[in-house]
Amino acid sequence: MLRQPILLLARSEQIKKLVSTMPVSAGIVTSYVPGETTDSAVDATAGLVGDGLKVTLDFLGEDTLDVEQADATVAAYLDLLQALAAHGLTRGAEVSVKLSAVGQAIPDNGDKIALENARTICRAARNAGTTVTLDMEDHTTTDRTLATLRELRKDFPETGAVLQAYLHRTEADCRALAYEGSRVRLCKGAYKEPESVAFQDRLDVDRSYVRCLKVLLAGQGYPMIATHDPRMVEIASSLASRYGRAQGSYEFQMLYGIRPEEQKRLASSGETMRVYIPYGQEWYGYLMRRLAERPQNLSFFAKSLISKK
Ligand SMILES: Cc1cc2nc3c(=O)[nH]c(=O)nc-3n(C[C@H](O)[C@H](O)[C@H](O)COP(=O)(O)OP(=O)(O)OC[C@H]3O[C@@H](n4cnc5c(N)ncnc54)[C@H](O)[C@@H]3O)c2cc1C
Repeated sequence: MLRQPILLLARSEQIKKLVSTMPVSAGIVTSYVPGETTDSAVDATAGLVGDGLKVTLDFLGEDTLDVEQADATVAAYLDLLQALAAHGLTRGAEVSVKLSAVGQAIPDNGDKIALENARTICRAARNAGTTVTLDMEDHTTTDRTLATLRELRKDFPETGAVLQAYLHRTEADCRALAYEGSRVRLCKGAYKEPESVAFQDRLDVDRSYVRCLKVLLAGQGYPMIATHDPRMVEIASSLASRYGRAQGSYEFQMLYGIRPEEQKRLASSGETMRVYIPYGQEWYGYLMRRLAERPQNLSFFAKSLISKK
């Protein structure tokens, strides 16, 4: 119920200024984001990999409107990939990239810039022995992101896609992407979307998630089941056995800091469990989407704002 107002409030520049001046050490931020630097990301990765989990890392930043900033994001990913390789972590860790962070939103030739930048990151990932997944953003970018994915997969077929069950179109997108070798992350979706394109009711989103799960698990690809929802995890597990899927022919994914005990439980039961680690200075948009999903955290959040003064 509180989700839409929080996402709307998050667009206010004043709120953004207030929240962004909090030191990153404020409890609520560090519970979702391990730090702002490559070193903090590598440390968090090493800890999780040591616990038998896999990782995907996101250098935070979105809605980049200038080429220099997009280049800086690419440089951060290259630095990260090099550091992961140097620490022997690329077997267990890949990267997640938002096309808007590497130039997609730049007017006129944003798609071209984002494609070239994503290609550079895919090449570096492959050289380091790992892969890239393209995060999915709001619905105005879905077609363009899937078109970029198709281009990238010509040279880097291992590149992962993300589909959001709250969109009406997604079941059809799952069918189109459930082919051999195709890595597809299925999530519910995190943006404020209009009724014309997205289910608004939680139950409808859950039903769509299950329909999409069936398509992906019955298909030939590699489903990446991204959810913290205990019911969805249970349904995915029983569908996986119904469709004769062995452990390791799909994986579960959860966000850093959310249900960590469940993450370990799934890994110790033999499932592949990947944790999404966001890091970097641009944590504001990410934090707001997490708060919108979990308004119970607002009181904790309000306390960290007050204690800053
Ligand atoms: C690995 C991964 C990658 C993702 N990538 C994308 C992407 O590319 N694009 C995109 O739009 N979205 C992405 N998302 C976010 C996703 O779309 C949802 O917004 C988010 O995962 C919440 O949905 P849920 O399936 O966990 O279910 P919900 O119905 O939101 O939650 C189910 C239960 O999970 C627990 N929980 C959920 N959120 C929290 C929280 N913040 N704190 C504590 N407990 C919580 C609670 O027990 C809750 O009852 C990603 C999510 C994951 C896990």
